[in-house]
Amino acid sequence: MALNEHLQAIYQDIVARNPGEAEFHQAVHEVLDALGPVLVKYPEFSEHKILRRISEPERQLIFRVPWQNDKNQVEINRGFRVQFNSALGPYKGGLRFHPSVYLGIVKFLGFEQIFKNSLTGLPIGGAKGGSDFDPKGKSESEIMRFCQSFMVELWRIIGEHTDVPAGDIGVGTREVGFLFGQYKRLTNKFEAGVITGKGLYYGGSQVRTEATGYGCVYFVNEMLKSRNLDFAGKKVTVSGSGNVAIYTHEKVTEFGGKVIAMSDSNGVIYDEKGINLETIKQFKEVERRRIKDYCDHHKGARYTPNGRIWDIPCDVAFPSATQNEITGRDAKTLVENGCIAVGEGANMPTTPEGAEIFLNAGVLYGPGKAANAGGVATSALEMQQNASRDAWTFEETDKKLQDIMKNIFQACSEAAEEFGSPGNLVKGANIAGFIKVARAMISQGLI
Ligand code: NDP
Repeated sequence: MALNEHLQAIYQDIVARNPGEAEFHQAVHEVLDALGPVLVKYPEFSEHKILRRISEPERQLIFRVPWQNDKNQVEINRGFRVQFNSALGPYKGGLRFHPSVYLGIVKFLGFEQIFKNSLTGLPIGGAKGGSDFDPKGKSESEIMRFCQSFMVELWRIIGEHTDVPAGDIGVGTREVGFLFGQYKRLTNKFEAGVITGKGLYYGGSQVRTEATGYGCVYFVNEMLKSRNLDFAGKKVTVSGSGNVAIYTHEKVTEFGGKVIAMSDSNGVIYDEKGINLETIKQFKEVERRRIKDYCDHHKGARYTPNGRIWDIPCDVAFPSATQNEITGRDAKTLVENGCIAVGEGANMPTTPEGAEIFLNAGVLYGPGKAANAGGVATSALEMQQNASRDAWTFEETDKKLQDIMKNIFQACSEAAEEFGSPGNLVKGANIAGFIKVARAMISQGLI
């Protein structure tokens, strides 16, 4: 994946301006790699320096988050919000609470979000935020105090027409509730559309909890259909056991597939009879336990500490935990074991080497930008319902999600075809997402 001379110069400039941000460089490289033929067809994008402008965030906020733990000791974390691009609508993107969070991670996620949000066809710009706070092992009161302190800074730059955060790793409905409560208190406004992923009884949307996982399975189903295949009888592995992984499992099972392995950051469980989803939901959504406890309840299952989930033979793989979790070696193993499709629930879960192996082997490969866009799309539907003070049914919202995922698959396939890489949905997603944003940026003048 070598860039041409023009794109290489742009890439080098971006790397030099953003030192030490490896994940951001990787995300930029992948987008640039798709754009050679686009710049030939649309020379105005180069004249307007769109690539350099689009890779510079419009605004970035880094802030101190002081809070007190249950022993009354002071703790300090760092908070981030990167408002990357507002050409298509208010900034939109989740908040990640994980000890690995630093500016380079937030920028890679925010950059990806620009194109993902564009692909949804909905009016949302791109952003991301988070903190190096580790929610693991914290009490509910500690989480609440942290969220409240985080919002004491964040509230200044968000708003329903400005920037609308949501969840991501470590931020679910509970945290969104604490964040929203504090925003309401600081602004003296019940501004439901300021954050998405809210509880159903105060402005949340049906299907938002399920949306990323369901959407990813809808996307993979479209890929399978393009080869006259379906999920029936397929063996499936899903990494992670959080929000995305759980609802991926649920929809795969509904479509007739069997999820035989899942994981968390400590290890992998394998159950050849199929992982019992009710146990996983109870452990992860209610009791917040580790996945290894699964084997205490399901004797036929096996737990491997620090195991490699991608060594387990499967037909379809759903990386749904974190970035760069599928290495070149893992991709090679998956291909050798007969994997025919990969749907990226996580953001950028495959290294560039891994992605190349999938594409060269003809694996149906759905990149995160496209395959996991159902989450943010349903967040935008939540914003629509908040704006009209409406609440749609589960079926209505799910139908809209299905249509959006079909459209995204279509748009990516068509763009890949039009720009000379038929079947390459990585290029297709980047091209289709980029063109719309680039046009909007030109229309809005030099900003
Ligand atoms: P959750 O916090 O609900 O779950 C994350 C899961 O991934 C957990 O099982 C966690 O294990 C595991 N995990 C996280 N970090 C690591 C790591 N460094 N190494 C190994 N395992 C890890 O997050 P989500 O399910 O919401 O998010 C999962 C992925 O999906 C992320 O990449 C996110 O960006 C992406 N995504 C999420 C969307 C959403 O709507 N939630 C939308 C689009 C993309 P443990 O508990 O041990 O940490």
